[in-house]
Amino acid sequence: FCNRKGKTPRRPPPKKPSNNQKDPVGVYCRVRPLGAEDVECCIEVISNTTIQLHAPDGLKANRNGEFKETQYSFKKVFGIKTTQGELFEDVAKPLVEDIIHCKNGLLFTYGVTGSGKTYTMTGSPGQGGLLPRSLDMIFNSIGPYQAKRYVFKPDDKNGMEVQNQVDALLDRQKRDSQTTVPKTPTTRRIDPEFADMISPVEACKADGVDEDSSYSVFVSYIEIYNNYIYDLLEETPIDPIKPKPPQSKILREDQNHNMYVAGCTEVEVKSTEEAFEVFWRGQKKRRIANTQLNRESSRSHSVFIIKLAQAPLDADGDNVLQDKNQVNVSQLCLVDLAGSERTSRTRAEGSRLREAGNINQSLMTLRTCIEVLRENQMCGTNKMVPYRDSKVTHLFKNYFDGEGKVRMVVCVNPKADDYEETLLVMRFAEMTQEVEVARPIDRPICGFAAGRRQRNQERGGPVDGESPTVLNQLLQSFPPLPPCEISGPNDDVTLPRLIEALEKRHKIRHMMIEEYNKTGKIITLFRASVLQEQDSNLLSKENFIQEQRGKLGEKEKMIQNQKNEIDRLEKKSRMLEYKIDILQKTTNIYEEDKRSLQQELESREHRLQREMSEKRRMETRMQGIVTDSKLKWEKECERRVNAKQLEMQNKLWVKDEKLKQLKAIVTEGKTENRQPQRPSREKDKVPAKRSASPSPVPSSLSSLEPIYNFSQTVRPDPHFLRPGSVSVASCISEWEQGVPQSCRQGSQSPPVSRKRAQGLPDSLSRRRGRCWAREVPVQPAEVDLEETSHWTGPPVRPLHRRSHSAGGERWVDHKPTTNVDLDTVLQPNIPNAITVNAPNEKALSKCDKYVLTHQEVASDGEIQTKLIKGEVFKTRGGGQAVQFTDIETLKQENPVAASRKRRSSETGPDGEPMEGDWTDVETRCSVALEMRAGSNLGPGYQHHGYPKRRKP
Ligand code: ADP
Ligand code: MG
Repeated sequence: FCNRKGKTPRRPPPKKPSNNQKDPVGVYCRVRPLGAEDVECCIEVISNTTIQLHAPDGLKANRNGEFKETQYSFKKVFGIKTTQGELFEDVAKPLVEDIIHCKNGLLFTYGVTGSGKTYTMTGSPGQGGLLPRSLDMIFNSIGPYQAKRYVFKPDDKNGMEVQNQVDALLDRQKRDSQTTVPKTPTTRRIDPEFADMISPVEACKADGVDEDSSYSVFVSYIEIYNNYIYDLLEETPIDPIKPKPPQSKILREDQNHNMYVAGCTEVEVKSTEEAFEVFWRGQKKRRIANTQLNRESSRSHSVFIIKLAQAPLDADGDNVLQDKNQVNVSQLCLVDLAGSERTSRTRAEGSRLREAGNINQSLMTLRTCIEVLRENQMCGTNKMVPYRDSKVTHLFKNYFDGEGKVRMVVCVNPKADDYEETLLVMRFAEMTQEVEVARPIDRPICGFAAGRRQRNQERGGPVDGESPTVLNQLLQSFPPLPPCEISGPNDDVTLPRLIEALEKRHKIRHMMIEEYNKTGKIITLFRASVLQEQDSNLLSKENFIQEQRGKLGEKEKMIQNQKNEIDRLEKKSRMLEYKIDILQKTTNIYEEDKRSLQQELESREHRLQREMSEKRRMETRMQGIVTDSKLKWEKECERRVNAKQLEMQNKLWVKDEKLKQLKAIVTEGKTENRQPQRPSREKDKVPAKRSASPSPVPSSLSSLEPIYNFSQTVRPDPHFLRPGSVSVASCISEWEQGVPQSCRQGSQSPPVSRKRAQGLPDSLSRRRGRCWAREVPVQPAEVDLEETSHWTGPPVRPLHRRSHSAGGERWVDHKPTTNVDLDTVLQPNIPNAITVNAPNEKALSKCDKYVLTHQEVASDGEIQTKLIKGEVFKTRGGGQAVQFTDIETLKQENPVAASRKRRSSETGPDGEPMEGDWTDVETRCSVALEMRAGSNLGPGYQHHGYPKRRKP
């Protein structure tokens, strides 16, 4: 019976595939209908993915309406009208398809006790749940391709072995003789207890089932209670009198690090009915144990494991390949978790309470594991997931850290009492959705050609081992065994008879094996011929393939040519593109150049314009300066001519006088009383006047005339009584005009004129800014007309000077309001000064010095400030008079023009230096004051910042 083909291709064991694709845990929500006794509903299905929780009225009242209405979203929400079929279609069907395609799946129901977990998983009569439906779908899909019983044999280490045909046959015989189950599973004898939970009407089938594989389904059913694992399918004699407590099982890890319950019963099932019957058996056992041990069923987790073993058929397609490495085992775990409520629904006391705590603990661990997984995945952390903390999580560890599809049906009872527990369930469910599990990958198929089973069936060969008729005949050909019961201690017949019969059987068996070997040889020969035929077939096919290959080669050559052509064109186009690029770049550069040149042109034009305007400005300025200096020198010349004239006249007059005196001496006797009328004062001064040189260069300061005092010398001449400012220039012009006039008027006039004329060049020659300009409108009332008009005697100096106290002088600081603040460094700083906008008698009476800050525009357009200083005198009439003694000129100047200025002031009109060497500081601090036409001061009056000299 050994049908070992021997030369089967050995493949390396499938390596654990590295898989990057992940899927989130699929979380579904099922809302059960409200029970008859419940009235208030706290759950509303908003859409097919969202539910909303409404806090029950009682709770709201308790918590002052603090409760929020919360919404939760899931992969899908199933309302109260959802049928078991619909739920299966969406939730479990993909998992069944996966198990058939060698992928693992985990499906669990989670929720409060009474929320419909068991209803969803197992169902109720007439309403089969996910479990019977899954089984049904599996058998519908693999039914015709199932292997004979015991061909696959669990190795008790989570793996699966393939037994040879004979061993499998013997195992089957043993089973048949032991149990009461019908020999052939085809006859359906369904337990009426659960019959209507399996509905073949809704049968569905997976697509893409590999026909060239053989399948076997194994189921196990365990219960985890109080963190102990119990095998619900274990065959232990139940002693109704003294029940033995069930033995718990332990978890182990196989060589692939997959967890399994060691020593757990795995029942091979061949149909939905058989499988469900096994399940039902376990269910009954569970119920009995619960009642016997007084346990609460809602506190235990039940795990139903469906294992599907599949292995490829051998090359002939008649037997399962005898290679353990080719066996694929996939499993689907259907878990009905314990109620998630925090405390037991029934009153728990003592050990029951502790158990409840443990149940709670396992769900807590589940929650923690999910939390840690989620955190690791979301934050990239690598925290240890505490799978080992409870049996439930430890058992399913592989699903989360390995690969597989995980789905959870969250069951909710919308009744108000469950609200708070439901809230927690929802939170856990939402979090679970964020955990991702590696997607199982497709397993590689074996190296044989497809359609082996089909071909084998066409040949009429046996599938999966012996043909039943032949085998049955063989079994029947064995001589029947004699009765084996030993009647008594003296029975020495039974055993020898049995030995004899067995020996006979043994002989027959040997014979049969020999015969089989013979026929095997014939078969081998036959097969060889068939193989030859197939070989020739193969050869012709190979030839054909060769031919086609040749054609393919030609086509490939053509394609290559075309590709080359495309390459060439592409290269050309790239070249052209490159050229275009270069041209574009050149254009850009030229344009850039153009732009920059244009900019430069523009800037140069601007500069030119600026320079032109500058030039024009300079021209006008130079013209102004030229006219100014022309005027100045004209006046200077005039002045000198006049001085010379005056001198000459003086000389003439002296000569005349001498002549007259001579004449008088000569004619003394006759003309004793006729002397020239000349004031004695003038007479005294004649020699002094003579020594006064009209030269522009100052000769000596000792030759200074006493200052011209306006208030003293004012005469009733209307020229001199003009109110307002009196300038030196006007004095000169007046003098010029006045000489002949006064000469005509009387004898007193000429000396006055002369004296003034003499005084002026004197002052001019000194170039001391000692000007008598009265720019301050000194009130004419101060000038005592009457007194001066009565004045007849020789000139006196009736200056009532204030005595200078030890504290120094007091100043009237006259600053007209019209002045502009120039922010200059040099500012008059006069301590104790009375500052006024307009001079008044009161201020003047208190002070002995007066200063006027006067601003005007100089010839070069700059503002210059003059500090016109004077002394205050008391007039005889009790008024005040100001005698101007000094002018300080402050001027701001453009540094560019400074050199020009300096040059002009350094040299006199005749090119000689006018003053001594100046220091730079002096230059900067004192700026020549050039008199302009219309100025109040005569030409040549310049203040150069010499130390101020005070007149006694
Ligand atoms: P759990 O297993 O969560 O404790 P069960 O599945 O035992 O809850 O359900 C409690 C009761 O509610 C059962 O009688 C069950 O028939 C009923 N039930 C639960 N879900 C539904 C549903 N979707 N439709 C009809 N009845 C349901
Ligand atoms: Mg239940």
